[in-house]
Amino acid sequence: MSSYQVTENALQNKVILITGAGDGIGKTAALEFARHGAEVILLGRTVKKLEAVYDQIVAEGGKEPAIVPLDLEGATPNHYQQLAQTIKEQFGQLDGLLHNAGVLGNLRPFSQIPEQEWQQVMQVNLNSEFFMTQALLPVLKLAPAASVVFTSSGVGRKGRAYWGAYAISKFATEGMMQVLADEYSGSSIRFNCINPGATRTSMRARAYPGENPMQLKTPEEIMPVYLYLMSDNSLKVNGQSLDAQPK
Ligand code: NDP
Repeated sequence: MSSYQVTENALQNKVILITGAGDGIGKTAALEFARHGAEVILLGRTVKKLEAVYDQIVAEGGKEPAIVPLDLEGATPNHYQQLAQTIKEQFGQLDGLLHNAGVLGNLRPFSQIPEQEWQQVMQVNLNSEFFMTQALLPVLKLAPAASVVFTSSGVGRKGRAYWGAYAISKFATEGMMQVLADEYSGSSIRFNCINPGATRTSMRARAYPGENPMQLKTPEEIMPVYLYLMSDNSLKVNGQSLDAQPK
Protein backbone atom coordinates (compact mmCIF):
# COMPACT_ATOMS: atom_id res chain seq x y z
CA MET A 1 0.00 0.00 0.00
CA SER A 2 2.90 2.39 0.74
CA SER A 3 3.72 2.75 -2.98
CA TYR A 4 0.40 4.58 -3.30
CA GLN A 5 1.37 7.37 -0.90
CA VAL A 6 1.00 10.90 -2.28
CA THR A 7 2.00 14.32 -0.96
CA GLU A 8 -0.39 16.66 0.84
CA ASN A 9 -0.86 18.90 -2.20
CA ALA A 10 -0.91 16.11 -4.80
CA LEU A 11 -4.24 17.21 -6.29
CA GLN A 12 -3.64 20.97 -6.24
CA ASN A 13 -5.16 22.73 -9.29
CA LYS A 14 -7.09 19.63 -10.30
CA VAL A 15 -10.81 19.57 -11.01
CA ILE A 16 -12.27 16.15 -10.18
CA LEU A 17 -15.81 14.87 -10.67
CA ILE A 18 -17.01 12.09 -8.36
CA THR A 19 -20.25 10.19 -8.99
CA GLY A 20 -22.15 8.92 -5.97
CA ALA A 21 -20.34 11.54 -3.89
CA GLY A 22 -22.97 11.71 -1.14
CA ASP A 23 -22.29 8.44 0.64
CA GLY A 24 -19.94 5.52 1.17
CA ILE A 25 -16.68 5.36 -0.77
CA GLY A 26 -17.60 8.27 -3.06
CA LYS A 27 -18.20 10.61 -0.14
CA THR A 28 -14.87 9.73 1.42
CA ALA A 29 -13.08 10.10 -1.93
CA ALA A 30 -14.59 13.58 -2.40
CA LEU A 31 -13.45 14.64 1.07
CA GLU A 32 -9.96 13.19 0.60
CA PHE A 33 -9.51 14.72 -2.87
CA ALA A 34 -10.51 18.12 -1.45
CA ARG A 35 -8.08 17.66 1.47
CA HIS A 36 -5.33 17.13 -1.10
CA GLY A 37 -6.13 20.40 -2.88
CA ALA A 38 -8.63 19.39 -5.57
CA GLU A 39 -11.69 21.34 -6.61
CA VAL A 40 -14.38 18.67 -6.53
CA ILE A 41 -17.65 18.32 -8.42
CA LEU A 42 -20.09 16.29 -6.32
CA LEU A 43 -22.57 14.33 -8.44
CA GLY A 44 -25.36 12.24 -6.93
CA ARG A 45 -29.08 11.77 -6.60
CA THR A 46 -29.71 12.79 -2.96
CA VAL A 47 -29.09 16.52 -2.71
CA LYS A 48 -29.11 16.60 1.12
CA LYS A 49 -26.21 14.16 1.23
CA LEU A 50 -24.26 16.17 -1.36
CA GLU A 51 -24.88 19.35 0.64
CA ALA A 52 -23.54 17.70 3.78
CA VAL A 53 -20.33 16.76 1.93
CA TYR A 54 -20.14 20.30 0.52
CA ASP A 55 -20.47 21.76 4.03
CA GLN A 56 -17.79 19.46 5.42
CA ILE A 57 -15.33 20.38 2.68
CA VAL A 58 -15.92 24.10 3.21
CA ALA A 59 -15.67 23.68 7.01
CA GLU A 60 -12.32 21.92 6.57
CA GLY A 61 -11.03 24.83 4.49
CA GLY A 62 -11.13 23.02 1.13
CA LYS A 63 -11.88 24.71 -2.18
CA GLU A 64 -15.59 25.37 -2.67
CA PRO A 65 -17.10 22.32 -4.40
CA ALA A 66 -19.80 22.23 -7.07
CA ILE A 67 -22.94 20.13 -6.70
CA VAL A 68 -24.57 18.29 -9.60
CA PRO A 69 -27.87 16.66 -8.63
CA LEU A 70 -28.43 13.85 -11.10
CA ASP A 71 -30.18 10.48 -10.87
CA LEU A 72 -28.12 8.21 -13.10
CA GLU A 73 -31.08 5.91 -13.57
CA GLY A 74 -33.04 8.53 -15.50
CA ALA A 75 -30.14 10.51 -17.00
CA THR A 76 -29.92 10.73 -20.79
CA PRO A 77 -26.98 11.51 -23.10
CA ASN A 78 -28.36 15.05 -23.22
CA HIS A 79 -27.84 15.47 -19.46
CA TYR A 80 -24.20 14.45 -19.86
CA GLN A 81 -23.68 16.87 -22.76
CA GLN A 82 -25.06 19.67 -20.57
CA LEU A 83 -22.77 18.57 -17.76
CA ALA A 84 -19.75 18.75 -20.09
CA GLN A 85 -20.77 22.22 -21.25
CA THR A 86 -21.16 23.45 -17.67
CA ILE A 87 -17.78 22.04 -16.65
CA LYS A 88 -16.13 23.70 -19.64
CA GLU A 89 -17.68 27.06 -18.83
CA GLN A 90 -17.09 26.95 -15.07
CA PHE A 91 -13.78 25.13 -14.79
CA GLY A 92 -12.22 25.15 -18.27
CA GLN A 93 -11.12 21.51 -18.01
CA LEU A 94 -11.64 18.24 -16.16
CA ASP A 95 -8.56 16.57 -14.63
CA GLY A 96 -10.20 13.61 -12.95
CA LEU A 97 -13.35 11.54 -13.19
CA LEU A 98 -14.21 8.91 -10.58
CA HIS A 99 -17.02 6.63 -11.69
CA ASN A 100 -18.07 5.41 -8.27
CA ALA A 101 -21.88 5.41 -8.07
CA GLY A 102 -23.37 1.96 -8.23
CA VAL A 103 -26.29 -0.20 -7.20
CA LEU A 104 -26.28 -3.81 -6.10
CA GLY A 105 -29.72 -4.92 -7.23
CA ASN A 106 -30.67 -8.10 -5.42
CA LEU A 107 -28.60 -11.22 -5.10
CA ARG A 108 -30.67 -13.99 -6.66
CA PRO A 109 -30.56 -16.86 -9.14
CA PHE A 110 -29.85 -15.80 -12.71
CA SER A 111 -33.13 -17.32 -13.90
CA GLN A 112 -35.08 -15.02 -11.57
CA ILE A 113 -33.59 -11.62 -12.34
CA PRO A 114 -36.56 -9.44 -13.33
CA GLU A 115 -36.21 -7.31 -16.44
CA GLN A 116 -36.70 -4.09 -14.47
CA GLU A 117 -33.86 -4.98 -12.08
CA TRP A 118 -31.51 -5.93 -14.91
CA GLN A 119 -32.27 -2.62 -16.67
CA GLN A 120 -31.78 -0.57 -13.51
CA VAL A 121 -28.43 -2.11 -12.60
CA MET A 122 -27.14 -1.78 -16.15
CA GLN A 123 -28.40 1.79 -16.44
CA VAL A 124 -26.71 2.98 -13.22
CA ASN A 125 -23.57 0.82 -13.20
CA LEU A 126 -22.77 0.73 -16.90
CA ASN A 127 -24.77 2.93 -19.28
CA SER A 128 -24.18 6.04 -17.19
CA GLU A 129 -20.42 5.40 -17.32
CA PHE A 130 -20.53 5.01 -21.08
CA PHE A 131 -22.57 8.13 -21.85
CA MET A 132 -20.85 10.25 -19.22
CA THR A 133 -17.35 9.30 -20.36
CA GLN A 134 -18.27 9.87 -24.01
CA ALA A 135 -19.64 13.34 -23.22
CA LEU A 136 -16.74 14.32 -20.96
CA LEU A 137 -13.87 13.23 -23.23
CA PRO A 138 -13.58 16.72 -24.81
CA VAL A 139 -13.23 18.42 -21.40
CA LEU A 140 -10.85 15.69 -20.19
CA LYS A 141 -8.72 16.42 -23.27
CA LEU A 142 -8.40 20.05 -22.18
CA ALA A 143 -6.48 18.99 -19.04
CA PRO A 144 -2.70 18.50 -19.34
CA ALA A 145 -3.06 14.98 -17.88
CA ALA A 146 -6.45 13.52 -17.08
CA SER A 147 -7.29 10.41 -15.07
CA VAL A 148 -10.51 8.42 -15.45
CA VAL A 149 -11.07 5.85 -12.71
CA PHE A 150 -13.79 3.21 -12.86
CA THR A 151 -14.99 1.18 -9.88
CA SER A 152 -14.88 -2.56 -10.31
CA SER A 153 -15.37 -5.44 -7.90
CA GLY A 154 -14.01 -8.90 -7.20
CA VAL A 155 -17.11 -10.26 -8.97
CA GLY A 156 -16.20 -8.13 -12.01
CA ARG A 157 -13.12 -10.30 -12.51
CA LYS A 158 -14.43 -13.71 -11.58
CA GLY A 159 -18.11 -14.52 -11.86
CA ARG A 160 -19.95 -15.72 -8.76
CA ALA A 161 -23.32 -17.43 -8.41
CA TYR A 162 -26.27 -15.13 -7.58
CA TRP A 163 -24.35 -11.90 -8.27
CA GLY A 164 -25.98 -11.71 -11.75
CA ALA A 165 -26.59 -8.21 -13.07
CA TYR A 166 -24.16 -6.54 -10.64
CA ALA A 167 -21.27 -8.86 -11.51
CA ILE A 168 -21.96 -8.61 -15.23
CA SER A 169 -22.05 -4.79 -15.04
CA LYS A 170 -18.65 -4.82 -13.33
CA PHE A 171 -17.13 -7.14 -15.98
CA ALA A 172 -18.41 -4.68 -18.59
CA THR A 173 -16.90 -1.79 -16.64
CA GLU A 174 -13.51 -3.52 -16.69
CA GLY A 175 -13.99 -4.04 -20.45
CA MET A 176 -14.87 -0.41 -21.10
CA MET A 177 -11.79 0.70 -19.18
CA GLN A 178 -9.58 -1.61 -21.27
CA VAL A 179 -11.07 -0.45 -24.59
CA LEU A 180 -10.59 3.20 -23.64
CA ALA A 181 -7.07 2.66 -22.25
CA ASP A 182 -6.00 1.03 -25.50
CA GLU A 183 -7.72 3.56 -27.72
CA TYR A 184 -6.25 6.56 -25.84
CA SER A 185 -2.88 5.00 -25.14
CA GLY A 186 -0.15 7.63 -25.59
CA SER A 187 -2.66 10.46 -25.18
CA SER A 188 -3.09 12.80 -22.20
CA ILE A 189 -5.95 10.73 -20.76
CA ARG A 190 -5.45 7.51 -18.81
CA PHE A 191 -8.07 4.97 -17.75
CA ASN A 192 -7.90 2.52 -14.85
CA CYS A 193 -10.12 0.52 -12.48
CA ILE A 194 -10.10 0.17 -8.73
CA ASN A 195 -11.51 -2.86 -6.95
CA PRO A 196 -12.27 -1.45 -3.48
CA GLY A 197 -12.46 -4.88 -1.81
CA ALA A 198 -14.77 -5.46 1.16
CA THR A 199 -15.42 -2.00 2.58
CA ARG A 200 -17.68 -0.80 5.41
CA THR A 201 -20.58 0.88 3.56
CA SER A 202 -24.32 0.44 3.28
CA MET A 203 -23.95 -1.47 -0.01
CA ARG A 204 -21.67 -4.02 1.63
CA ALA A 205 -24.09 -4.36 4.56
CA ARG A 206 -26.92 -5.11 2.12
CA ALA A 207 -24.84 -7.75 0.35
CA TYR A 208 -23.62 -9.38 3.58
CA PRO A 209 -26.26 -8.68 6.27
CA GLY A 210 -24.81 -11.25 8.69
CA GLU A 211 -21.30 -9.82 8.67
CA ASN A 212 -19.77 -7.74 11.44
CA PRO A 213 -19.01 -4.41 9.71
CA MET A 214 -16.38 -3.53 12.32
CA GLN A 215 -14.13 -6.21 10.81
CA LEU A 216 -14.11 -4.44 7.45
CA LYS A 217 -11.82 -1.70 6.20
CA THR A 218 -13.37 1.75 6.27
CA PRO A 219 -13.60 3.91 3.14
CA GLU A 220 -10.85 6.10 4.68
CA GLU A 221 -8.48 3.13 4.85
CA ILE A 222 -8.78 2.34 1.13
CA MET A 223 -8.11 5.89 -0.09
CA PRO A 224 -4.37 5.66 -0.95
CA VAL A 225 -4.98 4.03 -4.35
CA TYR A 226 -7.71 6.56 -5.20
CA LEU A 227 -5.39 9.46 -4.43
CA TYR A 228 -2.56 7.79 -6.33
CA LEU A 229 -4.59 7.26 -9.51
CA MET A 230 -5.88 10.85 -9.44
CA SER A 231 -2.41 12.31 -8.82
CA ASP A 232 0.42 12.83 -11.28
CA ASN A 233 2.29 9.98 -9.53
CA SER A 234 0.31 7.63 -11.78
CA LEU A 235 0.89 9.42 -15.10
CA LYS A 236 2.28 6.25 -16.68
CA VAL A 237 -0.40 3.93 -15.32
CA ASN A 238 -3.00 3.09 -17.96
CA GLY A 239 -5.28 0.10 -18.49
CA GLN A 240 -4.72 -1.35 -15.00
CA SER A 241 -7.21 -2.79 -12.54
CA LEU A 242 -5.80 -2.09 -9.09
CA ASP A 243 -6.82 -3.50 -5.72
CA ALA A 244 -7.49 -0.98 -2.97
CA GLN A 245 -6.80 -3.80 -0.49
CA PRO A 246 -3.92 -5.81 -1.96
CA LYS A 247 -3.57 -9.25 -0.39
P1 NDP B 1 -22.99 2.97 -1.27
O1 NDP B 1 -24.29 2.30 -1.51
O2 NDP B 1 -22.58 3.29 0.13
O3 NDP B 1 -22.90 4.32 -2.13
C1 NDP B 1 -23.28 4.33 -3.47
C2 NDP B 1 -23.38 5.74 -3.96
O4 NDP B 1 -23.91 5.71 -5.29
C3 NDP B 1 -24.34 6.58 -3.13
O5 NDP B 1 -23.83 7.88 -2.98
C4 NDP B 1 -25.59 6.58 -3.97
O6 NDP B 1 -26.42 7.71 -3.79
C5 NDP B 1 -25.00 6.59 -5.37
N1 NDP B 1 -26.01 6.16 -6.34
C6 NDP B 1 -26.67 4.98 -6.38
N2 NDP B 1 -27.57 5.00 -7.37
C7 NDP B 1 -27.50 6.22 -7.96
C8 NDP B 1 -28.20 6.84 -9.01
N3 NDP B 1 -29.21 6.23 -9.64
N4 NDP B 1 -27.86 8.10 -9.36
C9 NDP B 1 -26.88 8.76 -8.70
N5 NDP B 1 -26.17 8.22 -7.69
C10 NDP B 1 -26.49 6.96 -7.30
O7 NDP B 1 -21.92 2.03 -1.97
P2 NDP B 1 -20.33 1.93 -1.83
O8 NDP B 1 -19.75 3.20 -1.40
O9 NDP B 1 -20.03 0.68 -1.10
O10 NDP B 1 -19.94 1.64 -3.36
C11 NDP B 1 -19.22 2.54 -4.18
C12 NDP B 1 -18.72 1.76 -5.38
O11 NDP B 1 -17.82 0.74 -4.96
C13 NDP B 1 -19.83 1.05 -6.16
O12 NDP B 1 -19.55 1.14 -7.54
C14 NDP B 1 -19.72 -0.40 -5.69
O13 NDP B 1 -20.21 -1.29 -6.65
C15 NDP B 1 -18.22 -0.51 -5.49
N6 NDP B 1 -17.80 -1.58 -4.59
C16 NDP B 1 -18.04 -1.51 -3.24
C17 NDP B 1 -17.58 -2.51 -2.40
C18 NDP B 1 -17.84 -2.47 -0.92
O14 NDP B 1 -17.45 -3.45 -0.23
N7 NDP B 1 -18.44 -1.42 -0.36
C19 NDP B 1 -16.83 -3.68 -2.92
C20 NDP B 1 -16.64 -3.65 -4.36
C21 NDP B 1 -17.10 -2.64 -5.13
P3 NDP B 1 -27.50 7.76 -2.59
O15 NDP B 1 -26.70 7.80 -1.34
O16 NDP B 1 -28.22 9.02 -2.86
O17 NDP B 1 -28.32 6.53 -2.71
